[in-house]
Amino acid sequence: MRTELVSEPGDRDRPNEDFASVALPASGLGGTLVVLDGVTPPKGATGCLHSVPWFTARLGGALTELTVSCRDLTLSEILSRAILRTAEPHRSSCDLSHPRTPQATVVVARWSAETVEYLVLSDSALLLESPDGTVTPHLDDRLALLPRSALATDALADATIRNKEGGFFTAAADPTVATRAVTGVVPRAEVRALAALTDGATRWVEKFQEGDWTDCFTYVHKEGAQALVDRVRTLERADAEQRAHLGRSKTHDDATVVYVEL
Ligand SMILES: [Zn+2]
Repeated sequence: MRTELVSEPGDRDRPNEDFASVALPASGLGGTLVVLDGVTPPKGATGCLHSVPWFTARLGGALTELTVSCRDLTLSEILSRAILRTAEPHRSSCDLSHPRTPQATVVVARWSAETVEYLVLSDSALLLESPDGTVTPHLDDRLALLPRSALATDALADATIRNKEGGFFTAAADPTVATRAVTGVVPRAEVRALAALTDGATRWVEKFQEGDWTDCFTYVHKEGAQALVDRVRTLERADAEQRAHLGRSKTHDDATVVYVEL
């Protein structure tokens, strides 16, 4: 087995709000990966005394521990428990019903000798490569399919589509959101390698159209995770000068890539 993990802040002066872990509990038990992208709130109230990194560290830590120790639970059940565990220490001090309570996108994968389980919530991506080289993206495309007009302002999005029926969902303080995640199980024999990427890295495909998901996977496999992030940064700098690609809110975003060869 070989793993590679790269996570870079979009801005050196701000904390990285992504979280990434790979756990290999013991020989024969397989392993897990967890990737979160903490959602940066707009300026103003969040109802919470805590920071986004405070939240992602706890949610990511809980997901890592539970995927390793509770192999009898499904990944949805684990996400639900991890959200509850994370909400508990600030339930009395903070307004966890606030639409901008700390929240994150989630990718979890867990492999054993027999299966590879996965869970994807919101706009991070999980790519699975089969032994014949076919790359299958597992995506929660709710956000991408919403009309841009619904995202015209943060206030409009918070009031109408953020964690609302018909909108898109993130892991915040409500454990029932786990039932909204894209999940599945595939035979381990059908997976040779996996890659999980936050949207700061999937820009390579989705914003800059350097290639499709298969090309992206091949790039990480051949050039490495760092090379993919470096390439995105180069494209972002050129774009900031040219303003050729409109509609992007930040020049750089936190970017995380976890690559695992089984
Ligand atoms: Zn709080």
